[in-house]
Amino acid sequence: MKYLILAILAMHTLFGAKVTYEKWKDGISFSQYLSSHNVPPTLLSSISEEDQTFLSDIRSNSHYYEAKDADGTLLHALIPIGKEMQIHLYKDGEAYGFDIIPIEYKENDYYGKVEIKSNPYADTQQAVNQQNIAKRVGQALKGAVNTKKFQPGDEIAFVYQQRTRLGKLPHMPDIKVIKVMTGGKEQFIYVDEEGYGYDDTQKSISYQVTGKKKVVFTRRVPSSGKEAVFGMPLHNNRVTSGFSYRRWHPVLRRYRPHHGTDFGARKGTPILAVNDGRVIDAGWKAGYGNTIRLQHTGGYVSLYAHLSKIRCNAGRRVKKGEVIGYTGNTGVSSGPHLHFGLMKQGRWMDPMKVLRKESRVATVLKKITKYEDVTTTKYKKVEIKDAQKYRKALLAYQDQNASSHVWGITQLQSVYLNDREKF
Ligand SMILES: [Zn+2]
Repeated sequence: MKYLILAILAMHTLFGAKVTYEKWKDGISFSQYLSSHNVPPTLLSSISEEDQTFLSDIRSNSHYYEAKDADGTLLHALIPIGKEMQIHLYKDGEAYGFDIIPIEYKENDYYGKVEIKSNPYADTQQAVNQQNIAKRVGQALKGAVNTKKFQPGDEIAFVYQQRTRLGKLPHMPDIKVIKVMTGGKEQFIYVDEEGYGYDDTQKSISYQVTGKKKVVFTRRVPSSGKEAVFGMPLHNNRVTSGFSYRRWHPVLRRYRPHHGTDFGARKGTPILAVNDGRVIDAGWKAGYGNTIRLQHTGGYVSLYAHLSKIRCNAGRRVKKGEVIGYTGNTGVSSGPHLHFGLMKQGRWMDPMKVLRKESRVATVLKKITKYEDVTTTKYKKVEIKDAQKYRKALLAYQDQNASSHVWGITQLQSVYLNDREKF
């Protein structure tokens, strides 16, 4: 180890030097501290940038040590920055040196045994006369043991670790294990680093895991809204002959394509425009008889043939559902019906692929898969450090010595210095 403890010096015999226990004044900066002790300001600039960041870790009202000679010149200062490290400021000839070194503690294990008269907290407090130990015992038992079940005559015995520094107690004691004896039964409570007790040498720690969860559900979705904008050409639609690229023509008695859909209807049935559009032409067409053609958006052209009467003129705008003529039997036709044709971009297509009986948007049930972000809590077991070791130590202690052994504040005043000291 780099920092060997070279000298343990009783403070009174430090060549006339005097060691004092001080409190860091509220709001004072390290440079203010230096100037108030006549330390040349050049020291501050000699401290590395990394080390300078620790200067702000000096906490107001924290305790530190100063050693001064008979003239009151600062020889050493040991100023804590956190639990484990401290600033060491020291006089080196005419100049001053700066370092950050570990805080030297004495760390000892102690044992306690308490007979229960009323409750573990009060009885520990009374037996060991240290509130911090009673508090820690109470904290360790809470949640691990039902303290209400203690009966007079029950016992607890425990191991605890206490740090001391120059005769003082800088930190709370750490309870390591507690043996609980209730109604002749033994139970061991193991204590983790935070001071909480468990009746197992392991404790479970919860942690959060984030991930994706697959969710499948069904929902009605629009099937194909775009094509459903076309309505039907009649109020009552009965298909008598479908679209075909090749069908037997009963009048011409030969095969011909049938580029449309025939709807059976009595003569004089109103014909409706299947969509908004403009009349391309309305009049006689060979074979088709009285015929209307409408131009629609999207490159569609609709054709209505064999009409008895036409109710529109070329160039006129028509609305979807508007009556544009009446069914009949004109042209090459075997009886009153409407021949309806639909072209898209100059090609005939099966009108029934586009026409809908209702113009509302159809919906279908569809399975939809989604991945959702989920956060779940998991648990893992963590072994409580040195649980078995302290249990063994406690049992050994009880075998040797049944009486309780409690750390008391002694008047030992020692200064631990590192190997660079030049006294
Ligand atoms: Zn036809």
